[in-house]
Amino acid sequence: MDHIIGFDPIQGRFECEAGTRMADILTVSAVRGWTLPVIPACPHVTVGGAIANDIHDDGHLQHGNLGRHLLGLELLRSNGQRLWLEPGLRNHQRLLTATIGGLGLTGLITRVRLQLAPSSGTAAIIETHRFRNLNELWPMLGDHITRWPHLCVSLDCLARRPRLGQGILYLAQPAPECFPATESWLPRRCTDYPLSAAALHRGARHSRRRWLYRIRGGLSRKVSRYRIPLEHWLFSPPRTAAFAMPQSEQGFTWVPYHARLPSAAAQETVAEILQRVANSGQQVMAGTLEVFGSSPPSGILSFAREGLGFSFRIRSEGDSSQRLLQDLDEIVLAVGGNLHAGQDRRMSRTAFRRAYPRWEEFATEVDPGFSSEFWRRMQP
Ligand SMILES: Cc1cc2nc3c(=O)[nH]c(=O)nc-3n(C[C@H](O)[C@H](O)[C@H](O)COP(=O)(O)OP(=O)(O)OC[C@H]3O[C@@H](n4cnc5c(N)ncnc54)[C@H](O)[C@@H]3O)c2cc1C
Repeated sequence: MDHIIGFDPIQGRFECEAGTRMADILTVSAVRGWTLPVIPACPHVTVGGAIANDIHDDGHLQHGNLGRHLLGLELLRSNGQRLWLEPGLRNHQRLLTATIGGLGLTGLITRVRLQLAPSSGTAAIIETHRFRNLNELWPMLGDHITRWPHLCVSLDCLARRPRLGQGILYLAQPAPECFPATESWLPRRCTDYPLSAAALHRGARHSRRRWLYRIRGGLSRKVSRYRIPLEHWLFSPPRTAAFAMPQSEQGFTWVPYHARLPSAAAQETVAEILQRVANSGQQVMAGTLEVFGSSPPSGILSFAREGLGFSFRIRSEGDSSQRLLQDLDEIVLAVGGNLHAGQDRRMSRTAFRRAYPRWEEFATEVDPGFSSEFWRRMQP
C-alpha cells in the first residue's frame, strides 16, 4: 500500500498508493522542484490518512486544504467494488465530497493522484514576533497576513488580563536553497531550532509555568529572524502543537480541543474562550491559533474553512474539565463555528449536527461495512 505509481515532473502530478507517507512524497518530488501544497507537521502521516482528514497547514490562506489539490482517488467499498473518484466527473461526486475529510467512513482509499506545487527552495526564513496580549496580536496579524505565506500563533492560555492571549506569532516563507538538498524528509533532530521540542514536553509537566516562554535563544527578543533548513520548520513544535498529544502522566490524560471560528466573530470569541479557560483554573497547554483562508473546502466534514482555528490541550480532570469544554462548545457553535471531527474524543451528536449541517448527506454515503467510535456516538 505504499508504492509510488507515477510522477510527472513536468506537470507536477503524483500518483501513489494510499499508505505512502507524506515524507516519501517530499523526498521524491523536492529534488525535482515540486512540493506538497499542504504539508502536515508530522512526516509519517500517510496520503490516505491525509485525504481522510482533508488536512490543512499554516499556508491555508494560499493553498486551502489538501482536498483542493486532489486529482483523483480509488475507493474500495466493503462490497468489493473499486471506484475511481475524480473532481469534475459526473459520477459519484457526493461520495467524493464525503470521502475527502470523511475519516475513513466511506471505504478504504487505496490510490491517490495529487497535483503538487512548485517548490521554492530547501530553506525557510522565519520571523517570530512576541505580543503582550490579543489587542497587540490582531493588528500584527493584519500587517503580516498578506506578506507571509505561512503563519501560526502560539498562545499562552493561562495568562489573564492585561496579558490575556500573550504569545508568539511565527511567520515563515520558503527561501532559495542555502542548505544541501535533504536525502530524506523524515526529520532529524529539531533541537537546532530555537524552540526546542523538549519545551513542549516540559510544558506538559509544568504547564502552569507557561511553557511558551521557557524556550532558549532568540525568542527572548521581541522580533527575531532566522534562516533554517525547511524541514526544521515543517516539523517544529509551533506547527506540531495543534495536533501532537503529550504523553499521559500520573494517571491523567490530555484531551485535545480544536475548534474553528468564523472571521466575523473570531476576535471576541477567542478572547471569551481564553478568559473562561484562564479563570477555570484547569491545566491547559499548547494554545495555538491558525488563520484559514476563504477557499471553500472540498469535503462535507472538512474542518478548516474560512476563519480562525483555535486549539489547546486540557488535562482531563473529570467533571470540571468536561463542563468547561461543554461551555466552550456552546460558545463556538453559537457563533457558527465547528469542532475538529478528526481530533474528536467527546463531541456530542447535537454538536456534530449543528457544526456540520450537511451531516445527512454525509450519512447516506457512509459504507455500512465501516464504522468508528466517533460514528457510533453520532448515531441516535
Ligand atoms: C504530530 C502530528 C502532526 C500533525 N499535523 C497535522 C497538520 O499539520 N495538519 C493537519 O490537518 N493534520 C495534522 N495531523 C493530523 C493527521 O494529519 C491526521 O490525523 C491524519 O489522518 C493521520 O494520518 P495517518 O496516516 O496516521 O492515519 P491514521 O491515524 O491511521 O488514521 C486517521 C484517520 O484517517 C483514516 N484513514 C487512514 N488511512 C485511510 C485510508 N487509506 N482510507 C480511508 N481512510 C483512512 C482512518 O480511518 C482514521 O479515521 C497531525 C497529527 C500528528 C500526530
